[in-house]
Amino acid sequence: MSRITPTEAAPQAAKDHSQERQKRMISGHYDRLAESEERGEKNVYTFVPGNLTELLLSFDLLPVLPEINALQSGMRGLSKQYISLAEKEGHSEDVCTYVKCDIGMMRSGNVGPTGKRLPDPNLLLLSYTGCFTFLKWFELLREEYDCPVAMLHVPYQADGCITDEMRAYVVRQLETEIIPALERVSGKAYDEDRLRELLARSARAEDDLVWVLESAKNRPSPIDAYFGGVYYIGPIFTAFRGTEDAVEYYRELRGEIEERVRLGRGPILPEGELDDERYRLVVEGPPNWTSFRRFWKMFSDEGAVVVASTYTKVGGVYDDGFRHDPERPLESLAEYCLGCYTNLNLPSRVSKIARYVEDYDADGFLINSVKSCNSFSAGQLMILREVENRTGRPGGFIESDLVDPRYFSAANIKNRLESYFQMVEQKRRRGAS
Ligand code: SF4
Repeated sequence: MSRITPTEAAPQAAKDHSQERQKRMISGHYDRLAESEERGEKNVYTFVPGNLTELLLSFDLLPVLPEINALQSGMRGLSKQYISLAEKEGHSEDVCTYVKCDIGMMRSGNVGPTGKRLPDPNLLLLSYTGCFTFLKWFELLREEYDCPVAMLHVPYQADGCITDEMRAYVVRQLETEIIPALERVSGKAYDEDRLRELLARSARAEDDLVWVLESAKNRPSPIDAYFGGVYYIGPIFTAFRGTEDAVEYYRELRGEIEERVRLGRGPILPEGELDDERYRLVVEGPPNWTSFRRFWKMFSDEGAVVVASTYTKVGGVYDDGFRHDPERPLESLAEYCLGCYTNLNLPSRVSKIARYVEDYDADGFLINSVKSCNSFSAGQLMILREVENRTGRPGGFIESDLVDPRYFSAANIKNRLESYFQMVEQKRRRGAS
């Protein structure tokens, strides 16, 4: 067992100040959505990877992210009943559970995770970044709602790079399809100066987020870049990129983490602060949301800290140097969409994970293979083998699901984790002898 110092807030979940701010921001957004029809505000349903938040905000349109609704429902114990409703309607067990959770929520009155009704969409905006399920998901919603649909087709990075032609193809669609659709829904003209202001704020927040994620290169790491990381990415991956709220949140978060680095302290966990970092890991794949704290505790009880993760890049791969650029507004939105993690081919993903293992000096890496998500899970066994070969460090494989509690087997996961940590220990002993 690892040493954890309870903070003042324990046994309640321990939190940084920035986390309280993050919670207020997210629940404030749900409140705003609930009141939007009365206030005459319009919204756009769209997905996290490839989201065009700054462009929507430049038209005063509110983003609604169905995956965020699903994961929040999972964390609040609501997803089981929603999935069951969708399955009763005939959606198969194999369908992504985010989709079934969303369908079940809609059937239950479209009441969002905070208990307030979400508005019907004024536009379904599909920015297609590598996941075929997104397409099917919005086909289902299109049958339910009397609203227009716009699609941005983002070419897959099959050769592991973004060409000028790919960028130009996306920009052309923004100009000829997406912006006109947003003008029609909002009744406002495209204002590029306003978009530039929003993008400039995005870049500032992105700089601070990258600094925070890279702080995990310190020993001990002041953050957990997977379980803690999902809180850090919340504002920038949802409705706040480009806002002053996001700039302030990331500035405050960075200040808190700078202080932790200065004091040589470990990450804040729900039970307190981790005092002895025993294992440094890289994790590939999304987390399980229905047993999120229990899952995290299985790591922290062993003194395992996640120093880098791919999931925290799903709404933007900023640590490769990409920033939204106010000087090239549409081009940089196109590059953002093209660079999404779900749009990367397998060799690029392998290189990224192997680089994380080296750069963050990890003891090894773990794959959490979620049953629902083909975008992440396809090819993960190949990734496991390749990253082990390249880095010489042990890889582990666990299985769970996003928001379907039937696929979270605590005993199995714990057993696999214990075996994995034994493997890391053996490797260390061999290295020391
Ligand atoms: S399959 Fe994966 S990437 Fe696609 S919608 Fe479901 S969770 Fe998201």
